[in-house]
Amino acid sequence: MSKHHIGTKCVQGGYTPGNGEPRQIPIVQSTTFKYATSEDMGKLFDLEASGYFYSRLQNPTCDTVAAKICELEGGSAAMLLGSGQAASFYSIFNIASCGDHIVSSSTIYGGTYNLFAVTMKRMGIEFTFVAPNCTDEELEAAFRPNTKAVFGETIANPALTVFDIERFANAAHAHGVPLIVDNTFATPVNCRPFEFGADIVTHSTTKYMDGHGAAVGGCIVDSGKFDWTKYPEKFPGLCTPDDSYHGVTYTERFGLGGAYITKATAQLMRDFGSVQSPQSAFILNLGLESLHVRMKRHCENGLAVAKFLEGDDRILHVTYPGLESDACYPLAQKYLPNGSCGVVSFRIKGGRAAAEAFMKGLKIAAIETHVADARSCCLHPASATHRQMNDQELMDCGVYPDLIRFSCGLEDAEDLIADIKQALDNM
Ligand SMILES: *Cc1c(COP(=O)(O)O)cnc(C)c1O
Repeated sequence: MSKHHIGTKCVQGGYTPGNGEPRQIPIVQSTTFKYATSEDMGKLFDLEASGYFYSRLQNPTCDTVAAKICELEGGSAAMLLGSGQAASFYSIFNIASCGDHIVSSSTIYGGTYNLFAVTMKRMGIEFTFVAPNCTDEELEAAFRPNTKAVFGETIANPALTVFDIERFANAAHAHGVPLIVDNTFATPVNCRPFEFGADIVTHSTTKYMDGHGAAVGGCIVDSGKFDWTKYPEKFPGLCTPDDSYHGVTYTERFGLGGAYITKATAQLMRDFGSVQSPQSAFILNLGLESLHVRMKRHCENGLAVAKFLEGDDRILHVTYPGLESDACYPLAQKYLPNGSCGVVSFRIKGGRAAAEAFMKGLKIAAIETHVADARSCCLHPASATHRQMNDQELMDCGVYPDLIRFSCGLEDAEDLIADIKQALDNM
């Protein structure tokens, strides 16, 4: 599949059935797998042979779908997880532990911000947040000797800033650490962060990849390009024997292409068990089969709605990376030349109350804690996903009290615009 274009990979990647085998991927709805001898089983436990033994660690349906996403991103290995949150957590906890430090973009998903700033902090991992458009001096000053990774979102949810992947990758690499990019909003159809130097990609597959609001899920993909063995003192978990796994040294046994994902599966999935179910993986795969077709429409609708809003004087400001007036337009041209996403953020005149009145009047777009669905939806982040933040924290991550996040679905743009217009007229 690797020589094919992205659409062909969306449809056919990850699975090549043999003669007489099912055309659609089989749902292997089994917790366990049978073996003839205990010796066979022992080899699996020692990671000496590959095979399935318990679906908390690996399941064939999940692996098939992970393989498709791996191809889409151009990675060396991938794993599915039960949610995007689990993917964000594992991606960092796989290489950082108590006493370590991470540099993160400040414009990230609210759930990720809380995971980092509150929950992982409680586990002893410190985060320094930098604005995605910070100066070189500010970025440099964020690093510490115990920094283990840099994290950012290709297109931030909901701030819609575009992450300068190449710049942050260079900074990370200069400090001997990998860049982890949450590529949820762009999807590999619109941006493949590995092509710009990112080392690890995460996804909430709940969003565009599923695309139908049907299954919560996450994914981590490794590029296989970061050389952990150059910094064994920074990444002992990958470069020295794992006592909890029969003394295996992941980089030696699985090479640079397999070490990171094998460790995340063998240790973190074993211990935390944030699996995606085979049923959900099947639903995710149905979504992936049309991802390239749907993303095009989401982006067309996003641009049409953004342009309409920009021309209406009841709107204070529109943020959409595809708008020429947008501060991130030059970065979008570089990283997202074929389109960004279907999500448009805008500030409405009249503050928090106006935002709430406008949203109440919408008839097509529903108020939901969701984005990237076939059905348009909208959210007031300050009273939902970001409500745990104070006003200063809200401003720092680009979420104003009058900000509305509008996720354009796959409906006709004319109808979405007419709906927005009547809601503004009737406010
Ligand atoms: C939704 C989202 C997440 C969290 O994913 P879940 O599947 O809801 O756990 C992480 N990052 C981004 C950018 C998201 O939009």
